[in-house]
Amino acid sequence: MQPLALYNTLTRKKEVFEPLHAPFVGMYVCGPTVYGEAHLGHSRAAITFDILFRYLMHIGYKVRYVRNITDVGHLVNDADEGEDKIAKQARLAQLEPMEVVQHYTIRYHQDMQQLNVLSPSIEPRASGHMIEQIALIEEIIANGLAYEVNGSVYFDVPAYNQHQRYGKLSGRIVEDLLANTRGLDGQQEKRSPLDFALWKKASESHIMRWPSPWSEGFPGWHLECSAMSRKYLGPEFDIHGGGLDLMFPHHECEIAQSQASNHTDAAKYWVHNNLITINGQKMGKSLGNFITLRELFSGEHDLLQTAYSPMTIRFFVLQAHYRSTLDFSNEALLAARKGYLKLMNGLKVLDKINYPSDAEETGAQDLEMEKLLADCYRSLNDDLNTAKAIASLFNVLKKINSLYMGQVPVTSLSSSMFQNLKNTYRTLVTEVLGLTEERPDNLDQMLALLLKFYKDAKDVKDYAKVDEIRAEFKKLGIVIKDMKTGIDWAYEE
Ligand SMILES: [Zn+2]
Repeated sequence: MQPLALYNTLTRKKEVFEPLHAPFVGMYVCGPTVYGEAHLGHSRAAITFDILFRYLMHIGYKVRYVRNITDVGHLVNDADEGEDKIAKQARLAQLEPMEVVQHYTIRYHQDMQQLNVLSPSIEPRASGHMIEQIALIEEIIANGLAYEVNGSVYFDVPAYNQHQRYGKLSGRIVEDLLANTRGLDGQQEKRSPLDFALWKKASESHIMRWPSPWSEGFPGWHLECSAMSRKYLGPEFDIHGGGLDLMFPHHECEIAQSQASNHTDAAKYWVHNNLITINGQKMGKSLGNFITLRELFSGEHDLLQTAYSPMTIRFFVLQAHYRSTLDFSNEALLAARKGYLKLMNGLKVLDKINYPSDAEETGAQDLEMEKLLADCYRSLNDDLNTAKAIASLFNVLKKINSLYMGQVPVTSLSSSMFQNLKNTYRTLVTEVLGLTEERPDNLDQMLALLLKFYKDAKDVKDYAKVDEIRAEFKKLGIVIKDMKTGIDWAYEE
């Protein structure tokens, strides 16, 4: 079996994954800016790196997964001007900025839990790492690659670009970038329009501010990821992940900051998930065409024909390779729901197949089954191709169903291969893909249905049946109440 290979944006090649310090793996992923509800676009990055996290652990690595919470410094306008996204939301809602942060952080965690996204090992906040960020700025200034103007500090891109290549990650060329930038409009402090803020002096009205050697102010958005990844994973670590929309300028700036302080590209492998589109357009809060996860779960949005469960969303994301675009549509989500339920029914059926203890094992199908299971791993090892892995699982499922229906005798698999099939299918579906069973929450309807059977039995005076139903209910802690007005149930006190 070939080893895991990942597409590295930095080298533009699929590369065999070789961690710097096996069996340990350090992975950093840019987390949410907590100023609004998580939407479908957020779920893709979260689920993509959840699968990578799960798969790395599954194949035996000890992973430290750091995903940050951006709670300061992410400005409404990415050109280092404009209001802080969180402060703006706080002003609109008349809240303390940290109330906004707390509110949306909790909701983000709830949404992720619903999607069965594992918690990262460490979830650092930008506002809790001011000391580290200030120290990093001081290092970059000392190395001659940043300068202070009026209490703000900027990264000197042209100076950096003399020795390193600003644009190495995104493939952009400084000369082209300069030709396409509109002067220094409103950014007079910068020496070059490509320079980016490491520290901004806070204006009178700016609420979120911290003391620093240069002014009372706040750090630039790109800085926090460099400071926090270095603190928890070291100056060079294995994987840096995020959405494709973060590749430039955010990740490009992170690499520049890391080279200017640690002389490393921060991570060995830079991994980017593609975006979710809606009618071919990027889905995003700033574009106003997004559907929040909660709206998807409840179905309350003009674009939604129905509600879609968290596992349906998870399957929808997984049935495309993370580097392909994924277009939202009701048809695609309905198909995802079917696909997800198929895999779940496979789990149920597998548990019901009994391997006869006294039968003769032929093992005639062992080789074929082994090949089908290996296909699943081959796809995952090939740049985490969950789309192909799911297709392979459906092939396994066909075999499972033919065993269940008795079209193929179970003994055509040796007992050890049958056990292997059971374990592998369950592990891949539930632990690696992270798909769990969603029990229907229609308990009230189910109870009403059972009470109707009770009433039917009473109507035909089938007292044996009546007693039996009563007894079964009692075992569940429920008593049936026969009243003049009808039949009801209550908890047994
Ligand atoms: Zn980041």
